[in-house]
Amino acid sequence: MLINYFQFTGYACDDLSLPGNPSTTIDWHEGLDDSFQGPDNPNTVFEIDENAYVTFSKIIHGTKVLVAVHKDFVGKSEIKGFKIPTPEEFSERIFKTFNHHWHVFGGYPYDRYTVKIKPFSESSGFSLSKIGVAFGKTTDENTPNFPPHGYVEALEGFVQHEMFHSWLGKLIQYEPNESGNLFQLETWVVEGGASYYGDRSASLIIRKSIYRKLMRQKLNSYKKALNTSLDLSVQALVEKIGPGPPANDNTQTLLYARSTIVNYLLDEELTKLGFDLDILMKRLYEDFGLTNKKWTQNDIVQILNNETNKDFSKFLNKYLLTNSKFPIKRNFKFLKHAAQCSTID
Ligand SMILES: [Zn+2]
Repeated sequence: MLINYFQFTGYACDDLSLPGNPSTTIDWHEGLDDSFQGPDNPNTVFEIDENAYVTFSKIIHGTKVLVAVHKDFVGKSEIKGFKIPTPEEFSERIFKTFNHHWHVFGGYPYDRYTVKIKPFSESSGFSLSKIGVAFGKTTDENTPNFPPHGYVEALEGFVQHEMFHSWLGKLIQYEPNESGNLFQLETWVVEGGASYYGDRSASLIIRKSIYRKLMRQKLNSYKKALNTSLDLSVQALVEKIGPGPPANDNTQTLLYARSTIVNYLLDEELTKLGFDLDILMKRLYEDFGLTNKKWTQNDIVQILNNETNKDFSKFLNKYLLTNSKFPIKRNFKFLKHAAQCSTID
């Protein structure tokens, strides 16, 4: 079977000087609120010491996208045997990723967005916020190979996932339920969406095989769990994980895998109707991201029903509340989105 991939063609199809939604941006310091997550000091982490970092910036739809790479990385082509991009290549990927995500949501409210790669010497961990991400060495010394947040993964594709969270998860937040659990049903949108779009954009921007590889990994996690004690719905997986701690164990991996696949299946359904998953992201951005309101699963159903004039509750209940088998045979298609800045390869 021939699969059509779509290639990101720089910025040729897009006028980067056009403002977005909102048309006037807000001072980025205002995004340093209690949604900041990570070990860094939020007040200083995005202040860049020009003596220690090389920086690159580009104005994209009214936002200055700033990439700061610690000088430790300059002149290196690999870390522990893994090839890494040059700071110039990396920053170009970040600009394209920002632009890609911007088009998914149709805007970004702050006047600056920062991606920072911290040095080896600095304490481990990464930080995530509405106004940028700062990557560290690893998240946890006990699991040094823990993807996604080691340097290699950060430089090689996972930054796309985390940058997506600056919108979905930070700007756009769900209403926490009463359970006290680490995850809740709405996680399928936040983590599944960030993974699905992260894989898509990494594939468009870095290497087209990434999408198929990362989506296949998720399919394999899902298949491995079939007919085992972990063959559970998204909702049941959430409850099984309970209050955590964030284990990065099989259960969490499976929750992310199932959630990502549900995003794909939903995208496929929407594509059949002449839409795509961006319609959900855009409505979440406008109705909740820009208004500071919090959303619930019920809002997702309402948005989908309103936008398509179909009833999506049965579809979502089937794949989120029961362990119904996913109708995926071997490969995931790469679904074309209307707002995607790309042409057919
Ligand atoms: Zn995530």
